[in-house]
Amino acid sequence: MSIQENLEKLKSTLPPHVKLIAVSKTKPVEVILEAYHVGQKVFGENRVQELVPKYEVLPKDIEWHLIGHLQTNKVKYIAPFVSLIHSVDSLSLLKEINKEANKNNRSIDCLLQLHIAKEETKFGLSFEEAGTLLKSEELKELKNIRIVGLMGMATLTNDEILIRKEFHSLKEFFDKFLTLNSQFSILSMGMSSDYKIAVEEGSNIVRVGNSIFGER
Ligand SMILES: *Cc1c(COP(=O)(O)O)cnc(C)c1O
Repeated sequence: MSIQENLEKLKSTLPPHVKLIAVSKTKPVEVILEAYHVGQKVFGENRVQELVPKYEVLPKDIEWHLIGHLQTNKVKYIAPFVSLIHSVDSLSLLKEINKEANKNNRSIDCLLQLHIAKEETKFGLSFEEAGTLLKSEELKELKNIRIVGLMGMATLTNDEILIRKEFHSLKEFFDKFLTLNSQFSILSMGMSSDYKIAVEEGSNIVRVGNSIFGER
């Protein structure tokens, strides 16, 4: 199947309120352009070193999302143009994003990444840590960032009950903070293997790579 057919098939299964991020990591610019020319304008990358050169050569109306772990010393490279950072997992990183956003005279939208999976290796905050961060006074002083929602990755498993449970726990936490934080609107959950479950559990942004571009 072509990228166009994959995108059409995928979109036909997504409710209209769910935004599709095409995860283009490891894919060359020609492949990204193929998706772009059939109407996909939002792309996600997980590494700054890969995102920046792609941003430089590709059309400027592309919306770029950073979905992978971000090191403080790399924030400056993406601060001028990034649309949404999905993977914020500390106050110190938020401070750095705020500083670089300020230098660029802009505000940067961020999601807090929560650790909801069983695996030890995945990045992210616990519910407790995220709660503390969201309520902290220091956060209020960061005028050039907005925390607009949450991101989470479920355990890589065939156990749909477990995946559903993990997504559900994040949605519950999201709803709790929705009432305290009027900027909250985005819940980024779901990849190729589990986006259908994620959408059923309340996701409104899915990050899909393999089902669009083929296996990496
Ligand atoms: C690679 C990646 C995805 C997409 O995974 P696929 O299985 O290719 O759909 C989604 N989210 C993050 C954080 C990723 O690194």
